[in-house]
Amino acid sequence: MTKTDDPFDCQSCGETVPFDKVRRTKTIGGLDPTKWQTLCCPSCGSRLQTIYVGE
Ligand SMILES: [Zn+2]
Repeated sequence: MTKTDDPFDCQSCGETVPFDKVRRTKTIGGLDPTKWQTLCCPSCGSRLQTIYVGE
């Protein structure tokens, strides 16, 4: 479980994205997608943060 529920500030478009609005994608670079997810801005698609979602 992740404790990350704060909004994210997108450094590309300046938008503040609530945690439940971010786009989750697979990580880049071969990390296990069941353990790691990349959070992306829904407006511009920039990567916001990579989070650990495994147990
Ligand atoms: Zn953005």
